[in-house]
Amino acid sequence: MKGFSARAWPPFVDGAGDGESMRVVFLGAPGVGKGTQADRIAAQYHVAKISTGDLLREAVRTRTTLGLEAKSYMDQGGLVPDAVVIGLVREKLADPSCANGFVLDGFPRTVPQAEALGTVLVSKGITLDRVVNFQVSREDVVRRLSGRRSCPKCQATFHLDFAPSKMDGICDRCGEPLVQRSDDRREAIEMRLKVYDEQTAPLVRYYDERQLLFPMDASGGVDVVFGHLSQELAQYQAI
Ligand code: AMP
Repeated sequence: MKGFSARAWPPFVDGAGDGESMRVVFLGAPGVGKGTQADRIAAQYHVAKISTGDLLREAVRTRTTLGLEAKSYMDQGGLVPDAVVIGLVREKLADPSCANGFVLDGFPRTVPQAEALGTVLVSKGITLDRVVNFQVSREDVVRRLSGRRSCPKCQATFHLDFAPSKMDGICDRCGEPLVQRSDDRREAIEMRLKVYDEQTAPLVRYYDERQLLFPMDASGGVDVVFGHLSQELAQYQAI
């Protein structure tokens, strides 16, 4: 168990990990590649990936009450209310699959969400190891999002230019026709970036003040970014 920093509340820790687990947050604008890197880090270090976007899309797809509530916010590129996503994440963190740690992808996205996360972690007697801030130019973000195609069935993602599927419009993994996410349309992209600037960007400072922030240049290819990230996070892996 790590010692707590006296300065910050909830009590976060600075310094190297203790090798018991990896508990990290991936922060960054939509389209910076957080989800792809979260998949790879989760697979490499045997930790759970918790993506609120994936959880919400699954709820929409299966038409749960929560999904029906979330859909209109998501289609317009707005944020789903804090209470809904906080509840989802709290439930996931209690799952045994998080025993080795977790990568939170797309959560927290607002200061109240970050505070709620802090409270949940304190109640479990655990702390965050690192918050990785993925950085890519605005131009690249728009290019990445507008060319993205996803599989509605297995959630695999492709890109028309950078990572095309082998057969045009068909998922390599499960053969399902690929779709453009409704929130990857241009108007929704603009809205999502505006929401990011207003509500999520303040978290950079929030976590920097808690000495958890790791700035990550994510403008390179997937393998290059993964190499750097993996090097940084290796110190937190379970032993
Ligand atoms: P993402 O796949 O992370 O880009 O998320 C897709 C959409 O799901 C977002 O544009 C939001 O509408 C919603 N969403 C995902 N995560 C959150 C969150 N932490 N808080 C509020 N809404 C979220």
